Amino acid sequence: ADEAVSAQDLIARRNRLLGPAYRLFYEQPVQFVRGEGVWLHDAAGHRYLDAYNNVASVGHCHPHVVQAIARQAALLNTHTRYLHETVLDFAEKLLATFPAEIGHVMFTCTGSEANDLALRVARTCTGRTGFIVTANAYHGVTSALAELSPSLGLPLPEGSHVRLVPAPSSAADAGDVFAHHVRAALDDMKKSGIRPAALLVDTIFSSDGVFADPPGFLRPAVEAVRAEGALFIADEVQPGFGRCGGHMWGFARHGLVPDLVTMGKPMGNGHPVAGMAARPELLAEFGRRSRYFNTFGGNPVSAAAGIAVLDVIESEGLMQNAQHTGGYLVKLLGQLRAQHPLITEIRGAGLFVGVELRLGGQTGTPATAEAARVVNLLRERRVLISSAGPHGNVLKIRPPLVFGTEHADLLVETLDQTLAEATMMSGE
Ligand code: PMP
Repeated sequence: ADEAVSAQDLIARRNRLLGPAYRLFYEQPVQFVRGEGVWLHDAAGHRYLDAYNNVASVGHCHPHVVQAIARQAALLNTHTRYLHETVLDFAEKLLATFPAEIGHVMFTCTGSEANDLALRVARTCTGRTGFIVTANAYHGVTSALAELSPSLGLPLPEGSHVRLVPAPSSAADAGDVFAHHVRAALDDMKKSGIRPAALLVDTIFSSDGVFADPPGFLRPAVEAVRAEGALFIADEVQPGFGRCGGHMWGFARHGLVPDLVTMGKPMGNGHPVAGMAARPELLAEFGRRSRYFNTFGGNPVSAAAGIAVLDVIESEGLMQNAQHTGGYLVKLLGQLRAQHPLITEIRGAGLFVGVELRLGGQTGTPATAEAARVVNLLRERRVLISSAGPHGNVLKIRPPLVFGTEHADLLVETLDQTLAEATMMSGE
Protein backbone atom coordinates (compact mmCIF):
# COMPACT_ATOMS: atom_id res chain seq x y z
CA ALA A 1 0.00 0.00 0.00
CA ASP A 2 2.90 2.34 0.80
CA GLU A 3 4.29 1.74 -2.65
CA ALA A 4 0.95 2.65 -4.26
CA VAL A 5 0.66 5.86 -2.26
CA SER A 6 4.15 6.94 -3.17
CA ALA A 7 3.63 6.05 -6.86
CA GLN A 8 0.46 8.17 -6.90
CA ASP A 9 2.37 11.03 -5.29
CA LEU A 10 5.13 10.78 -7.85
CA ILE A 11 2.65 10.71 -10.74
CA ALA A 12 0.91 13.83 -9.43
CA ARG A 13 4.24 15.56 -8.95
CA ARG A 14 5.42 14.59 -12.43
CA ASN A 15 2.24 15.95 -13.96
CA ARG A 16 2.59 19.18 -12.03
CA LEU A 17 6.27 19.65 -12.91
CA LEU A 18 6.81 17.94 -16.27
CA GLY A 19 3.43 18.63 -17.84
CA PRO A 20 1.12 16.41 -19.88
CA ALA A 21 3.21 15.35 -22.92
CA TYR A 22 4.81 12.26 -21.40
CA ARG A 23 3.52 8.68 -21.21
CA LEU A 24 4.62 6.22 -18.54
CA PHE A 25 4.71 2.46 -18.95
CA TYR A 26 1.99 0.30 -17.35
CA GLU A 27 -1.45 0.94 -15.89
CA GLN A 28 0.35 1.02 -12.55
CA PRO A 29 3.59 2.87 -13.27
CA VAL A 30 6.52 1.53 -11.36
CA GLN A 31 9.34 3.33 -9.56
CA PHE A 32 12.76 1.72 -9.64
CA VAL A 33 15.58 2.71 -7.36
CA ARG A 34 18.32 0.26 -8.26
CA GLY A 35 19.37 -2.06 -11.07
CA GLU A 36 21.74 -4.99 -11.36
CA GLY A 37 22.19 -7.34 -14.32
CA VAL A 38 18.71 -8.35 -15.52
CA TRP A 39 17.03 -7.15 -12.32
CA LEU A 40 15.36 -3.88 -11.38
CA HIS A 41 14.47 -3.19 -7.74
CA ASP A 42 11.49 -1.03 -6.80
CA ALA A 43 11.22 1.39 -3.91
CA ALA A 44 9.58 -1.28 -1.71
CA GLY A 45 12.48 -3.71 -2.25
CA HIS A 46 10.81 -6.08 -4.78
CA ARG A 47 12.85 -7.24 -7.72
CA TYR A 48 11.54 -7.31 -11.28
CA LEU A 49 12.89 -9.34 -14.18
CA ASP A 50 13.77 -6.85 -16.92
CA ALA A 51 12.96 -8.50 -20.24
CA TYR A 52 12.63 -5.24 -22.13
CA ASN A 53 15.59 -2.96 -21.57
CA ASN A 54 17.87 -2.55 -24.54
CA VAL A 55 19.51 0.53 -23.06
CA ALA A 56 21.18 -1.29 -20.18
CA SER A 57 22.17 -3.83 -22.77
CA VAL A 58 25.19 -5.37 -21.03
CA GLY A 59 23.22 -5.50 -17.76
CA HIS A 60 22.08 -2.80 -15.36
CA CYS A 61 24.95 -0.97 -13.66
CA HIS A 62 27.59 -3.25 -15.11
CA PRO A 63 30.63 -2.61 -12.85
CA HIS A 64 33.10 -2.34 -15.73
CA VAL A 65 31.01 0.39 -17.40
CA VAL A 66 30.25 2.19 -14.12
CA GLN A 67 33.95 2.25 -13.24
CA ALA A 68 34.96 3.51 -16.69
CA ILE A 69 32.44 6.36 -16.44
CA ALA A 70 33.43 7.24 -12.86
CA ARG A 71 37.16 7.13 -13.59
CA GLN A 72 36.91 9.43 -16.62
CA ALA A 73 34.41 11.77 -14.94
CA ALA A 74 36.86 12.22 -12.06
CA LEU A 75 39.68 13.02 -14.49
CA LEU A 76 38.21 15.22 -17.22
CA ASN A 77 35.01 15.86 -19.10
CA THR A 78 34.60 18.66 -21.58
CA HIS A 79 33.14 19.66 -24.93
CA THR A 80 34.55 17.98 -28.00
CA ARG A 81 36.78 20.63 -29.60
CA TYR A 82 39.99 19.58 -27.88
CA LEU A 83 42.23 16.71 -28.78
CA HIS A 84 41.55 13.64 -26.69
CA GLU A 85 42.81 10.12 -27.23
CA THR A 86 39.86 8.22 -25.72
CA VAL A 87 37.40 9.23 -28.43
CA LEU A 88 39.85 7.91 -31.03
CA ASP A 89 40.32 4.66 -29.14
CA PHE A 90 36.55 4.34 -29.09
CA ALA A 91 36.21 5.13 -32.82
CA GLU A 92 38.90 2.58 -33.64
CA LYS A 93 37.29 -0.14 -31.55
CA LEU A 94 33.82 0.61 -32.87
CA LEU A 95 34.83 0.78 -36.54
CA ALA A 96 36.56 -2.58 -36.16
CA THR A 97 33.07 -4.10 -35.72
CA PHE A 98 31.97 -2.83 -39.17
CA PRO A 99 32.72 -4.08 -42.68
CA ALA A 100 35.81 -2.46 -44.26
CA GLU A 101 33.67 -0.15 -46.45
CA ILE A 102 32.51 1.74 -43.35
CA GLY A 103 35.49 3.86 -42.40
CA HIS A 104 34.35 6.85 -40.32
CA VAL A 105 32.18 7.43 -37.28
CA MET A 106 30.72 10.70 -36.00
CA PHE A 107 29.43 10.96 -32.44
CA THR A 108 26.17 12.37 -31.13
CA CYS A 109 24.27 12.03 -27.83
CA THR A 110 21.04 10.42 -29.03
CA GLY A 111 19.79 8.15 -31.77
CA SER A 112 17.62 11.00 -33.01
CA GLU A 113 20.64 13.23 -33.53
CA ALA A 114 22.38 10.38 -35.35
CA ASN A 115 19.40 9.92 -37.70
CA ASP A 116 19.05 13.67 -38.17
CA LEU A 117 22.71 13.83 -39.18
CA ALA A 118 22.20 10.88 -41.56
CA LEU A 119 19.36 12.80 -43.23
CA ARG A 120 21.62 15.82 -43.65
CA VAL A 121 24.45 13.73 -45.09
CA ALA A 122 22.07 11.91 -47.45
CA ARG A 123 20.50 15.17 -48.65
CA THR A 124 23.85 16.93 -49.03
CA CYS A 125 25.61 14.08 -50.84
CA THR A 126 22.80 13.13 -53.21
CA GLY A 127 21.40 16.64 -53.70
CA ARG A 128 17.99 14.98 -53.34
CA THR A 129 15.10 15.12 -50.90
CA GLY A 130 13.03 11.90 -51.04
CA PHE A 131 13.04 9.37 -48.20
CA ILE A 132 11.36 5.98 -47.87
CA VAL A 133 10.49 4.55 -44.43
CA THR A 134 8.19 1.78 -43.20
CA ALA A 135 4.56 2.46 -42.32
CA ASN A 136 4.94 2.23 -38.54
CA ALA A 137 8.57 3.30 -38.24
CA TYR A 138 10.07 5.35 -35.44
CA HIS A 139 13.34 7.15 -36.10
CA GLY A 140 13.46 9.96 -33.58
CA VAL A 141 12.26 13.13 -31.89
CA THR A 142 13.42 16.01 -34.10
CA SER A 143 10.86 17.76 -36.28
CA ALA A 144 12.66 16.48 -39.39
CA LEU A 145 12.39 12.93 -38.07
CA ALA A 146 8.76 13.27 -36.96
CA GLU A 147 7.89 13.14 -40.65
CA LEU A 148 9.88 9.91 -40.96
CA SER A 149 8.31 8.41 -37.82
CA PRO A 150 4.75 7.48 -38.81
CA SER A 151 4.31 5.52 -35.55
CA LEU A 152 3.81 8.92 -33.89
CA GLY A 153 0.47 9.00 -35.67
CA LEU A 154 0.94 12.43 -37.28
CA PRO A 155 -0.28 12.72 -40.89
CA LEU A 156 2.37 13.41 -43.53
CA PRO A 157 2.29 17.11 -44.41
CA GLU A 158 0.95 17.97 -47.85
CA GLY A 159 3.65 17.74 -50.51
CA SER A 160 5.83 15.64 -48.22
CA HIS A 161 8.91 14.10 -49.81
CA VAL A 162 8.53 11.02 -47.58
CA ARG A 163 6.95 7.79 -48.84
CA LEU A 164 5.74 4.99 -46.57
CA VAL A 165 6.00 1.30 -47.40
CA PRO A 166 4.36 -1.58 -45.53
CA ALA A 167 6.80 -3.39 -43.24
CA PRO A 168 7.98 -6.70 -44.65
CA SER A 169 5.65 -9.47 -43.61
CA SER A 170 7.07 -12.66 -42.19
CA ALA A 171 6.05 -14.64 -45.26
CA ALA A 172 8.61 -16.63 -47.23
CA ASP A 173 8.47 -14.02 -50.01
CA ALA A 174 9.15 -11.05 -47.70
CA GLY A 175 12.10 -9.98 -49.87
CA ASP A 176 10.11 -9.73 -53.11
CA VAL A 177 7.08 -8.14 -51.47
CA PHE A 178 9.13 -5.52 -49.64
CA ALA A 179 11.15 -4.70 -52.79
CA HIS A 180 7.89 -4.40 -54.74
CA HIS A 181 6.58 -1.79 -52.28
CA VAL A 182 9.88 0.09 -52.32
CA ARG A 183 9.84 0.17 -56.15
CA ALA A 184 6.25 1.46 -56.06
CA ALA A 185 7.36 4.23 -53.66
CA LEU A 186 10.23 5.13 -56.00
CA ASP A 187 7.77 5.29 -58.93
CA ASP A 188 5.40 7.43 -56.92
CA MET A 189 8.20 9.86 -56.08
CA LYS A 190 9.11 10.10 -59.74
CA LYS A 191 5.53 11.00 -60.63
CA SER A 192 5.66 13.86 -58.13
CA GLY A 193 9.04 15.06 -59.42
CA ILE A 194 10.79 14.01 -56.21
CA ARG A 195 14.23 12.41 -56.43
CA PRO A 196 15.01 9.71 -53.85
CA ALA A 197 17.82 10.39 -51.38
CA ALA A 198 17.59 7.27 -49.21
CA LEU A 199 15.76 4.28 -47.83
CA LEU A 200 15.90 4.45 -44.02
CA VAL A 201 14.95 1.32 -42.08
CA ASP A 202 15.36 -0.17 -38.63
CA THR A 203 16.89 -3.50 -39.62
CA ILE A 204 14.77 -5.43 -37.06
CA PHE A 205 11.59 -3.40 -37.77
CA SER A 206 10.94 -3.02 -34.06
CA SER A 207 8.06 -0.55 -33.99
CA ASP A 208 6.52 -2.20 -37.07
CA GLY A 209 6.19 -5.41 -35.03
CA VAL A 210 9.63 -7.16 -35.21
CA PHE A 211 10.39 -8.71 -38.60
CA ALA A 212 13.65 -10.62 -38.83
CA ASP A 213 13.25 -13.45 -41.30
CA PRO A 214 14.32 -14.72 -43.66
CA PRO A 215 17.82 -13.24 -43.31
CA GLY A 216 18.69 -11.39 -46.51
CA PHE A 217 15.14 -10.25 -47.28
CA LEU A 218 16.25 -6.60 -47.31
CA ARG A 219 18.64 -7.08 -50.19
CA PRO A 220 16.30 -6.71 -53.20
CA ALA A 221 14.81 -3.48 -51.77
CA VAL A 222 18.26 -2.01 -51.17
CA GLU A 223 19.31 -2.98 -54.71
CA ALA A 224 16.22 -1.20 -56.03
CA VAL A 225 17.01 2.09 -54.24
CA ARG A 226 20.68 1.93 -55.20
CA ALA A 227 19.71 1.39 -58.83
CA GLU A 228 18.01 4.81 -58.59
CA GLY A 229 21.13 6.40 -57.11
CA ALA A 230 19.72 6.60 -53.58
CA LEU A 231 21.42 5.54 -50.34
CA PHE A 232 20.62 2.86 -47.77
CA ILE A 233 20.63 4.06 -44.16
CA ALA A 234 20.52 1.29 -41.55
CA ASP A 235 19.03 2.42 -38.24
CA GLU A 236 20.79 0.13 -35.76
CA VAL A 237 19.54 1.95 -32.66
CA GLN A 238 17.49 -1.11 -31.68
CA PRO A 239 19.08 -4.15 -33.37
CA GLY A 240 22.73 -3.10 -33.00
CA PHE A 241 25.48 -4.02 -30.55
CA GLY A 242 25.03 -7.78 -30.75
CA ARG A 243 21.36 -7.99 -29.80
CA CYS A 244 20.36 -10.06 -32.80
CA GLY A 245 22.92 -12.74 -31.97
CA GLY A 246 25.66 -14.01 -34.24
CA HIS A 247 26.26 -10.54 -35.71
CA MET A 248 27.09 -7.21 -34.17
CA TRP A 249 24.71 -5.38 -36.53
CA GLY A 250 21.23 -6.11 -37.87
CA PHE A 251 22.22 -5.26 -41.44
CA ALA A 252 24.84 -8.03 -41.37
CA ARG A 253 22.03 -10.62 -41.12
CA HIS A 254 20.90 -9.34 -44.50
CA GLY A 255 24.33 -9.61 -46.10
CA LEU A 256 24.34 -5.86 -46.77
CA VAL A 257 26.77 -3.01 -46.30
CA PRO A 258 24.83 0.22 -45.71
CA ASP A 259 25.95 3.68 -46.83
CA LEU A 260 25.19 5.17 -43.42
CA VAL A 261 24.56 3.44 -40.10
CA THR A 262 22.99 5.07 -37.07
CA MET A 263 23.27 3.73 -33.54
CA GLY A 264 22.41 4.75 -29.99
CA LYS A 265 20.51 3.30 -27.03
CA PRO A 266 22.78 0.40 -25.88
CA MET A 267 25.98 2.17 -26.96
CA GLY A 268 26.76 3.56 -23.48
CA ASN A 269 24.64 1.12 -21.44
CA GLY A 270 22.53 4.06 -20.26
CA HIS A 271 25.04 6.86 -20.66
CA PRO A 272 23.78 9.03 -23.54
CA VAL A 273 26.11 8.35 -26.45
CA ALA A 274 25.12 7.67 -30.05
CA GLY A 275 26.59 8.02 -33.50
CA MET A 276 26.59 7.64 -37.24
CA ALA A 277 29.06 5.45 -39.13
CA ALA A 278 29.61 6.08 -42.82
CA ARG A 279 31.39 5.25 -46.01
CA PRO A 280 34.30 7.72 -46.17
CA GLU A 281 33.38 8.87 -49.72
CA LEU A 282 30.13 10.27 -48.37
CA LEU A 283 31.72 12.16 -45.51
CA ALA A 284 34.39 13.50 -47.87
CA GLU A 285 31.59 15.14 -49.84
CA PHE A 286 29.67 16.19 -46.71
CA GLY A 287 32.83 17.68 -45.17
CA ARG A 288 33.47 19.73 -48.32
CA ARG A 289 30.02 21.24 -48.23
CA SER A 290 29.13 21.26 -44.58
CA ARG A 291 30.36 21.26 -40.98
CA TYR A 292 29.29 19.42 -37.88
CA PHE A 293 29.76 20.18 -34.22
CA ASN A 294 28.02 18.46 -31.33
CA THR A 295 28.96 19.88 -27.91
CA PHE A 296 28.65 16.63 -25.97
CA GLY A 297 28.85 14.05 -28.78
CA GLY A 298 31.82 11.79 -28.11
CA ASN A 299 33.04 13.60 -24.99
CA PRO A 300 35.68 11.77 -22.93
CA VAL A 301 33.18 10.25 -20.48
CA SER A 302 30.87 9.05 -23.29
CA ALA A 303 33.83 7.58 -25.13
CA ALA A 304 34.99 5.77 -21.98
CA ALA A 305 31.48 4.37 -21.49
CA GLY A 306 31.33 3.24 -25.13
CA ILE A 307 34.69 1.48 -24.96
CA ALA A 308 33.65 -0.30 -21.76
CA VAL A 309 30.41 -1.54 -23.39
CA LEU A 310 32.33 -2.99 -26.33
CA ASP A 311 34.77 -4.62 -23.89
CA VAL A 312 31.93 -6.33 -22.03
CA ILE A 313 30.14 -7.51 -25.18
CA GLU A 314 33.39 -9.17 -26.19
CA SER A 315 34.71 -10.45 -22.85
CA GLU A 316 31.38 -11.90 -21.74
CA GLY A 317 30.50 -13.33 -25.15
CA LEU A 318 27.18 -11.45 -25.15
CA MET A 319 26.59 -11.77 -28.88
CA GLN A 320 26.88 -15.54 -28.48
CA ASN A 321 24.67 -15.40 -25.40
CA ALA A 322 22.02 -13.47 -27.35
CA GLN A 323 22.08 -16.22 -29.94
CA HIS A 324 22.00 -19.04 -27.40
CA THR A 325 19.45 -17.67 -24.90
CA GLY A 326 17.39 -16.21 -27.75
CA GLY A 327 17.18 -19.62 -29.41
CA TYR A 328 16.22 -21.24 -26.11
CA LEU A 329 13.57 -18.59 -25.47
CA VAL A 330 12.03 -19.02 -28.92
CA LYS A 331 11.89 -22.80 -28.37
CA LEU A 332 10.04 -22.32 -25.03
CA LEU A 333 7.69 -19.81 -26.62
CA GLY A 334 6.97 -22.34 -29.37
CA GLN A 335 5.86 -24.83 -26.70
CA LEU A 336 3.67 -22.14 -25.17
CA ARG A 337 2.08 -21.49 -28.53
CA ALA A 338 0.84 -25.08 -28.62
CA GLN A 339 -1.21 -24.37 -25.46
CA HIS A 340 -2.35 -20.80 -26.12
CA PRO A 341 -4.17 -20.20 -29.43
CA LEU A 342 -3.83 -16.45 -28.77
CA ILE A 343 -0.18 -16.77 -29.90
CA THR A 344 -0.17 -16.86 -33.68
CA GLU A 345 3.46 -16.16 -34.50
CA ILE A 346 6.88 -15.95 -32.85
CA ARG A 347 9.49 -13.86 -34.65
CA GLY A 348 12.90 -12.47 -33.97
CA ALA A 349 16.64 -12.80 -33.92
CA GLY A 350 18.83 -13.33 -30.88
CA LEU A 351 17.39 -11.54 -27.87
CA PHE A 352 14.91 -9.50 -29.91
CA VAL A 353 11.68 -11.45 -29.97
CA GLY A 354 8.14 -10.56 -31.05
CA VAL A 355 5.16 -12.70 -30.06
CA GLU A 356 2.09 -11.89 -32.14
CA LEU A 357 -1.33 -12.28 -30.52
CA ARG A 358 -4.52 -12.66 -32.56
CA LEU A 359 -8.08 -13.71 -31.87
CA GLY A 360 -9.21 -16.51 -34.17
CA GLY A 361 -5.85 -17.73 -35.49
CA GLN A 362 -3.24 -16.56 -38.02
CA THR A 363 -5.65 -14.48 -40.09
CA GLY A 364 -7.75 -13.37 -37.11
CA THR A 365 -8.05 -9.88 -35.65
CA PRO A 366 -5.12 -8.37 -33.77
CA ALA A 367 -5.51 -9.04 -30.02
CA THR A 368 -4.67 -5.46 -29.02
CA ALA A 369 -6.50 -5.36 -25.70
CA GLU A 370 -5.23 -8.83 -24.75
CA ALA A 371 -1.63 -7.82 -25.47
CA ALA A 372 -2.01 -4.75 -23.23
CA ARG A 373 -3.52 -6.96 -20.54
CA VAL A 374 -0.67 -9.47 -20.80
CA VAL A 375 1.92 -6.68 -20.50
CA ASN A 376 0.18 -5.26 -17.42
CA LEU A 377 -0.43 -8.66 -15.81
CA LEU A 378 3.24 -9.51 -16.29
CA ARG A 379 4.17 -6.24 -14.63
CA GLU A 380 1.98 -7.21 -11.65
CA ARG A 381 3.96 -10.45 -11.50
CA ARG A 382 7.19 -8.44 -11.72
CA VAL A 383 8.24 -9.28 -15.24
CA LEU A 384 8.78 -6.36 -17.60
CA ILE A 385 8.04 -6.42 -21.33
CA SER A 386 6.07 -4.18 -23.71
CA SER A 387 4.18 -4.42 -26.99
CA ALA A 388 4.77 -3.18 -30.53
CA GLY A 389 3.31 -3.04 -34.03
CA PRO A 390 0.64 -0.77 -35.53
CA HIS A 391 -2.03 -2.60 -33.50
CA GLY A 392 0.09 -3.05 -30.38
CA ASN A 393 -0.60 -6.79 -30.52
CA VAL A 394 2.99 -7.99 -30.69
CA LEU A 395 4.62 -8.69 -27.33
CA LYS A 396 8.08 -7.20 -27.50
CA ILE A 397 10.74 -9.12 -25.55
CA ARG A 398 14.12 -7.44 -25.60
CA PRO A 399 16.06 -8.09 -22.38
CA PRO A 400 19.60 -7.06 -21.44
CA LEU A 401 22.02 -9.35 -23.26
CA VAL A 402 23.13 -10.98 -20.00
CA PHE A 403 19.73 -12.75 -19.92
CA GLY A 404 20.33 -16.43 -19.17
CA THR A 405 18.24 -19.55 -19.79
CA GLU A 406 17.05 -19.46 -16.14
CA HIS A 407 15.63 -15.98 -16.81
CA ALA A 408 13.98 -17.22 -20.00
CA ASP A 409 12.39 -20.03 -17.93
CA LEU A 410 10.98 -17.52 -15.44
CA LEU A 411 9.72 -15.22 -18.19
CA VAL A 412 7.94 -18.02 -20.07
CA GLU A 413 6.45 -19.60 -16.91
CA THR A 414 5.03 -16.23 -15.92
CA LEU A 415 3.82 -15.56 -19.45
CA ASP A 416 2.06 -18.95 -19.42
CA GLN A 417 0.04 -18.00 -16.31
CA THR A 418 -0.62 -14.53 -17.66
CA LEU A 419 -1.86 -15.72 -21.06
CA ALA A 420 -4.27 -18.11 -19.33
CA GLU A 421 -5.64 -15.22 -17.28
CA ALA A 422 -5.79 -12.77 -20.21
CA THR A 423 -7.59 -15.36 -22.35
CA MET A 424 -10.10 -16.08 -19.59
CA MET A 425 -10.85 -12.38 -19.24
CA SER A 426 -11.42 -12.00 -22.99
CA GLY A 427 -13.60 -15.13 -23.10
CA GLU A 428 -11.67 -16.52 -26.07
N1 PMP B 1 15.67 4.90 -34.07
C1 PMP B 1 15.02 3.87 -33.51
C2 PMP B 1 14.78 2.63 -34.29
C3 PMP B 1 14.56 3.99 -32.19
O1 PMP B 1 13.91 2.98 -31.62
C4 PMP B 1 14.80 5.18 -31.47
C5 PMP B 1 14.35 5.36 -30.03
N2 PMP B 1 13.26 4.62 -29.64
C6 PMP B 1 15.49 6.22 -32.11
C7 PMP B 1 15.92 6.03 -33.40
C8 PMP B 1 15.76 7.51 -31.43
O2 PMP B 1 16.71 7.40 -30.44
P1 PMP B 1 16.75 8.42 -29.22
O3 PMP B 1 15.53 8.22 -28.39
O4 PMP B 1 18.04 8.09 -28.52
O5 PMP B 1 16.82 9.80 -29.78
